[in-house]
Amino acid sequence: MKKYLMPVLMLAIFETVAVTLWLTKDNLFYLFNFSYIGLSISFGVFLFIRKYKHARRIVQLLVGLYMLIYLGLICNENMQIEGFWYYLFTGVFEAATIHYAVAKIFGPLLFGRGWCGYACWTAMVLDFLPYKVPGNPRKRIGWIRYIIFAGSLIFVAALFLAKVGNIERIMFWAFIVGNVVYYAVGIILAYVFKDNRAFCKYICPITVFLKPMSYFSLLRIKCDKDKCISCGKCKKVCPMNVDVTDNSRKRLNGTECILCMECVRNCPKDAL
Ligand code: SF4
Ligand code: SF4
Ligand code: SF4
Repeated sequence: MKKYLMPVLMLAIFETVAVTLWLTKDNLFYLFNFSYIGLSISFGVFLFIRKYKHARRIVQLLVGLYMLIYLGLICNENMQIEGFWYYLFTGVFEAATIHYAVAKIFGPLLFGRGWCGYACWTAMVLDFLPYKVPGNPRKRIGWIRYIIFAGSLIFVAALFLAKVGNIERIMFWAFIVGNVVYYAVGIILAYVFKDNRAFCKYICPITVFLKPMSYFSLLRIKCDKDKCISCGKCKKVCPMNVDVTDNSRKRLNGTECILCMECVRNCPKDAL
């Protein structure tokens, strides 16, 4: 039973967040929202422990579709980075700001870039593309993410400074247009670079938060040097080009790890 401790722990963490926010914000939505996400993730971890091949993809679809269709399109919550700036400027600690705080700013201190591996609705689609293992070496164009990050901030700040009316409606449309653009760019880049995760590596502005916070992540893949035979299989299958055999926090592309567990599943010596 000890091996099932992880999904139980995950569910307990999400339930704590769910109940705390429900009671402090006096809003039943938070109980439903975080319970659903916690149950989906715990279910995925359970399936992974049972060695089910598509465990991660199931969580991605359960959480990603819920966030994109229910929260984004039905509830009109802009969970893209513009939505975060919008709620931050209005001083409202609600859906998008809470989402960023939990999944992308403070959460990564605990679970690294688990968001990128198990919940992101952009990657949920990109991971269906054919280049699961990068076909080309990594490019040195990661600086693009900072331009997109600054652009999103300037866009929302300009709306406030110009006192544009009905910003909430603009945010809804920004969510639709932003997602269409992200999917289009993500799919094109995947084919150009022969790499499903090219968008994540070079373009995604969220990584400006995710990378530094995940550097300190409590949850990370470690290599048992006594078992490792340096076969290099883990590096070959890693979608993010992480040198997972190096246990230091400064390992190559260490802040890119999305905890997808491909390296763990493929290690012939169970060294990870
Ligand atoms: S890097 Fe961005 S697009 Fe990629 S999975 Fe993470 S949040 Fe999603
Ligand atoms: S796949 Fe396993 S044995 Fe091979 S290099 Fe990686 S950790 Fe070592
Ligand atoms: S293959 Fe391993 S090192 Fe690479 S992203 Fe997935 S979990 Fe991280």
